[in-house]
Amino acid sequence: MLVIMDNQATEEQCHGVEDAIRALGFEPVSVPGAGRTAVCVTGNNDRVSAPMLERLPGVKQVIHVTQPYKLVSREVRGSSTKVTVGDAVFGGPEPVLVGGPCSVETEARTLAIAHKVKAAGAKVFRAGAYKPRTNPYSFQGLGEEGLHTLALVREETGLPVVTEVIDHDSADLVAEHADILQVGTRNMQNFSLLKRVGRAGKPVLLKRGMSATVEEWLQAAEYLLAEGNEDVILCERGVRTYNRHSRNTLDLNVVPLIRRLSHLPIVVDPSHGVGQRERVRPMARAALACGAQGLLIEVHTDPDTAYSDGSQTITVEEFEAIARDREILGRLEPIG
Ligand code: PEP
Ligand code: MN
Repeated sequence: MLVIMDNQATEEQCHGVEDAIRALGFEPVSVPGAGRTAVCVTGNNDRVSAPMLERLPGVKQVIHVTQPYKLVSREVRGSSTKVTVGDAVFGGPEPVLVGGPCSVETEARTLAIAHKVKAAGAKVFRAGAYKPRTNPYSFQGLGEEGLHTLALVREETGLPVVTEVIDHDSADLVAEHADILQVGTRNMQNFSLLKRVGRAGKPVLLKRGMSATVEEWLQAAEYLLAEGNEDVILCERGVRTYNRHSRNTLDLNVVPLIRRLSHLPIVVDPSHGVGQRERVRPMARAALACGAQGLLIEVHTDPDTAYSDGSQTITVEEFEAIARDREILGRLEPIG
């Protein structure tokens, strides 16, 4: 439920509504917006029937939110959220390029890649220090050492860094070093981790679970907003299907859909979406054309020797080509 306040409503009247919501046993969350003040009722499972709220002084209208997610929904917040990190504005006028290797590697290699992606136009550097690997014998990431390398990348290049939080054990340490916390596909429904990450005080990049519906994904994002974190970026990275021709099936359908359902920015990761470097650029173009507000791409100065995901990692030259594509496709007239 969303309680829309009158334009003339006083602060006292807004507090009165919040108190009334608390008295019903729910949590009020105020939703600022251009031209209107609203208070969202959260904590309820079912439809709240509270006609008394409509009669409180200063209340203009009470709207029942039809979706299971609220704070992430456009029904609750009409204006698009912008997440600003360094020079990157996710949800701003230009799609944001995020690039870097799958994993943090040696300092020298990681820094060399970071300088190249920055020169190509990346506004954020990506690399995993803690890697969630399917096989326990695969490279698991450099851990804390990798976080120090990321800190060095930020220091030397000025680029903010995004890196994954894979569990509670490493959450505080990662939050200390990263500018954006990535929640990966395997943890999208790790609800206790979502709550922890939501409270960490850093922007979050929430990847779509590999078999998650849009409703499940948005409810996962709701966990983050419910903890008071509004700086959330959604990332489509492909879903599991019967296809054998690609690692995942990049579901670009969700880009315009998410932009209609939610005010949160959405970016696309074509690297994990296709799993083969030859197809990263075509799908990056497709993502930009359908309205992606950023691209997350695995790139390396020597992809064949990458510590992980080499087969889907593109060269720096290819990344530069995608940056040129973005110049053209990022200027397309927005739809809807
Ligand atoms: C990654 O970005 O390197 C990663 C592990 O992504 P995903 O969670 O989408 O597999
Ligand atoms: Mn990867």
